[in-house]
Amino acid sequence: MDQAQPKPYWETKSLTEMSTEEWEALCDGCGRCCLNKLQDEDNGKIYLTSAACYLLDIDSCRCSDYQNRKQRMSECISLSPDNTGWLEWLPDTCGYRLRARGLPLPDWHPLVSGDPDSVHQAGISVRHLAISELDVDDLRDYVLED
Ligand code: SF4
Ligand code: SF4
Repeated sequence: MDQAQPKPYWETKSLTEMSTEEWEALCDGCGRCCLNKLQDEDNGKIYLTSAACYLLDIDSCRCSDYQNRKQRMSECISLSPDNTGWLEWLPDTCGYRLRARGLPLPDWHPLVSGDPDSVHQAGISVRHLAISELDVDDLRDYVLED
């Protein structure tokens, strides 16, 4: 008879109980939080654009200077278990947001698939839609559909 596999850490630990390594691995590497947003001054609605932070490596969808990101990009939000005010701003697919809601990680999440490329293959990452903000004149031309 097969022995039951132990549950993975992201199902047994809360966000605040995770080690730094476990916390970092919960990021699926989609790059969506590195896209610029626009806010409608009249109704407060947030619009996501395809214009990515200039530090995002669009092919890997990873920050090209993660260690120094706060110094180089003052608007970059550092995600941490102690700083959860950002949760509502993250996409529904984000691993942090899913676990904060008690939802399972999807099959394409690298922690589940064991393959860092699965987030790209599933079309979740911004690899095929992002453009560097350095190549953008007017963000309003790059608003993504809801
Ligand atoms: S949206 Fe969430 S999972 Fe995607 S890159 Fe940002 S922090 Fe990581
Ligand atoms: S500095 Fe890095 S982590 Fe922060 S928004 Fe830019 S690419 Fe993303």
